[in-house]
Amino acid sequence: MTFAGDGPRPRVIVIGAGVGGSVVASRLAKHCDVVVLERGASSRVIHDPTLAMQRSGFEGSPYPQGTGPGGGSRVNGMVFAHAPDSYWNSLVHMGLEVFADAHGEQISFIGEESPCDGLVDRALRLAHPEVRPTMLATRNGVRLTAWDRLVTHGVTLHTGVTVSHLNFNGERVMGVVTSKGEELTADHVILCAGAISSSVLAARSGVIGDEIRLLDHPALFVPLIRDRRDSSDAIERDPICTTYAGAVHDKDGVSIMSINGGVKGSGGLLVALMTPRSSGKVFVSRDSVLIDRGFFSDARDLEALRTGVRRAHWLLSQPSFSQFTSPMSSMLNGEEWQEQVGDGVWHACGTLPMGLQEDFPLDESGKLRGTTNAWCMDASVFPVIPPAPPQASVLVAAGLLANRFLSLVTS
Ligand SMILES: Cc1cc2nc3c(=O)[nH]c(=O)nc-3n(C[C@H](O)[C@H](O)[C@H](O)COP(=O)(O)OP(=O)(O)OC[C@H]3O[C@@H](n4cnc5c(N)ncnc54)[C@H](O)[C@@H]3O)c2cc1C
Repeated sequence: MTFAGDGPRPRVIVIGAGVGGSVVASRLAKHCDVVVLERGASSRVIHDPTLAMQRSGFEGSPYPQGTGPGGGSRVNGMVFAHAPDSYWNSLVHMGLEVFADAHGEQISFIGEESPCDGLVDRALRLAHPEVRPTMLATRNGVRLTAWDRLVTHGVTLHTGVTVSHLNFNGERVMGVVTSKGEELTADHVILCAGAISSSVLAARSGVIGDEIRLLDHPALFVPLIRDRRDSSDAIERDPICTTYAGAVHDKDGVSIMSINGGVKGSGGLLVALMTPRSSGKVFVSRDSVLIDRGFFSDARDLEALRTGVRRAHWLLSQPSFSQFTSPMSSMLNGEEWQEQVGDGVWHACGTLPMGLQEDFPLDESGKLRGTTNAWCMDASVFPVIPPAPPQASVLVAAGLLANRFLSLVTS
């Protein structure tokens, strides 16, 4: 592997071609020589649900992650929900001025959303007057990955390349070393490997410790089966409408989202706590990574989700849901459902939080503390978890951090 250019422009390695990496690579390409190293293959997957359950390659944990250009946006539920302005304002109040233009940045991504109106959406809307539609990241009827949408030219992409660690000389990162032992040098290295992998790379490069905080949304998926008296055996046949489109949000931070279809015609309601107080941990050792999502380490989260589950139970008793049955409905009134929490929502964030505090791994521009030229611009950076499915927030954060990087490095 070599770098495309040897001119005066800064040479930047971006690790990961996922949601954050796509934004960063496309923004930097005009001003820097950019090489993106992506561990996944280059073939394009439209919507292969089996990929969503693919193991992330870490021993001991089945936490899934999309791989290949587009990363999570190749396999995720496609929900494209913006975090409210109040969230970004709270980050600005924490000293993260870089997010002051979050509203403008959000607007720049709005054109890529399309509404969905499937059977479960319609039932939810009829049962609840306040249902607000969320959007799907699709265009012209096909899944829209961040890479497809954003990266058009000027970026060198190497797929099938897994970075093993960053190569330092004192505080200066000289480049990266791949799992095959190849070395590639650069002026700057930007971690965009996703919240778990970026933090693992930082730990294995000796920049942070090996016990890392992890933020995630606890959620319960309540499957629904459509009454077979209807000729259709699937909840929704349209392959695009296989995901969430409607959502009820309550004051405790719980969202109830409708999911239509899927491979086996299954759909359901997803009850998710969007403002959890609990946190988990990623434990990194030399050969393995263990992930403890830490749901309900703060008891108030269990109480909030319990309220949401009761509400879902009530929704399912409404006439608009009479065409569905749920194998889980009897457990929603008790406590048994707690054992199912966490399966179906994978929103890892906040492993390398940004902040003014010296004990935060990233400074207020996304640079790894203790280094002169190593950065992070993906779901890792959030000091507080976004109160929405994170894909849209990662796009916004990565875009603003890439702008900040350019103003610092190329001025
Ligand atoms: C099954 C599933 C469903 C989801 N559903 C939704 C949803 O509906 N809505 C929503 O908003 N969010 C959803 N998410 C979350 C969303 O996809 C992520 O928040 C988002 O993709 C994070 O972006 P990122 O850039 O941080 O990481 P990613 O998009 O995960 O990108 C990281 C990239 O880095 C690559 N990589 C990792 N390690 C290395 C390495 N060592 N060397 C080289 N490359 C590496 C990976 O292959 C990957 O392509 C879902 C996630 C999953 C897994």
